[in-house]
Amino acid sequence: MDYIELHKEYKANSLFGRYITLKDIEPLLEKLPTEIIGHSVLGKPIYKYTIGTGTTKVFMWSQMHGNESTTTKALFDVLNMIHSNNEIGARLLKEFTFCILPMVNPDGAELYTRENANKVDLNRDSVDVSQPESQLLRKVFDDFKPHFCFNLHDQRTIFGAGDAGNVATVSFLAPSFNENRDSNAIRSKAMNVIVAMNDELQKHIPNQVGRFDDGFNINCIGDMFTFLNVPTILFEAGHFQEDYYREYTRKMIFIALISGLKHIYENDVVDIKNALYLQIPQNKVVFYDFIYKNVKINYDGKEKITNFAAQYKEELIDGKIQFNVYIAEIGELKGKFGHFQYNAHKMLYKDESDGIPKINQKANFCLGKDIKFVNGIKK
Ligand SMILES: [Zn+2]
Repeated sequence: MDYIELHKEYKANSLFGRYITLKDIEPLLEKLPTEIIGHSVLGKPIYKYTIGTGTTKVFMWSQMHGNESTTTKALFDVLNMIHSNNEIGARLLKEFTFCILPMVNPDGAELYTRENANKVDLNRDSVDVSQPESQLLRKVFDDFKPHFCFNLHDQRTIFGAGDAGNVATVSFLAPSFNENRDSNAIRSKAMNVIVAMNDELQKHIPNQVGRFDDGFNINCIGDMFTFLNVPTILFEAGHFQEDYYREYTRKMIFIALISGLKHIYENDVVDIKNALYLQIPQNKVVFYDFIYKNVKINYDGKEKITNFAAQYKEELIDGKIQFNVYIAEIGELKGKFGHFQYNAHKMLYKDESDGIPKINQKANFCLGKDIKFVNGIKK
């Protein structure tokens, strides 16, 4: 199957970039028989969409973290395919009944925050169930009684798949159901789907698929649902080379979703592939967006050669996301990689205030006499 062509054909073109709010998805939802199941803290509607006639029930939700929009884009790409009489889409509708919450946290989406409007992380609220959004998610879970759950997220650019300098463009987790991180038939089902998705993704992004830490935390929704005996898969859309809008990663999530579902309908018998799951490299925090090496700084009147790193902060300013670069670490930076790396060859650092980079300061500086960096990038 040519997944790349398939994606090109069915991409929901109106959705683009990182800032995806209800205003962006409502025109797409208007055409569908959706249901408003309730409202967010600030009174925004939370939509549910159910489609398909199959016996296997899959519950998918996206943007429970408001600023994690890549999987929402991919979800609408899949829906677009499903609605267009395409052969694969028709098969999916025959095999599955999907229940989809495309945007669990519409307030966070608008504010571009991880948390909801009460500053609660909805993915740490599965025991307290204190927030309206968490209550709605749980009610849909209880009523729908899914066979599988897909928990759709984005991860930061800091993660590598392992520690050898390969970025984790997509990461997965089959969450634990106990402190021991044991496996059982439920968790193994989730692991098997991940193994199938990883097999397909390796053709497109070799060595750039990671496995998220499986430390047990029942406050996280995936751990809770696995504990409640439903195989649950955490999807984490991450960074791809120079793709800060995550349009390439969106394609990879589209591929993961379809290949994962295909695996589910093609495999009645569960052979245990836990070992293959465990072979997927673990996510490690090894990346910065920018690393500047061999920089001369003037420290207390003494010159010293060092390195420093800088990181994008995505800031919502006047309704747009700005990628602003701030200095994040100074020193050896052992084991760290930069998505962008610059060798200063011992040129002297200077910025507006003095001769030393400072953490949390904007990355506007000069190297040597006349090489100017504005917002982290050489001018
Ligand atoms: Zn998340």
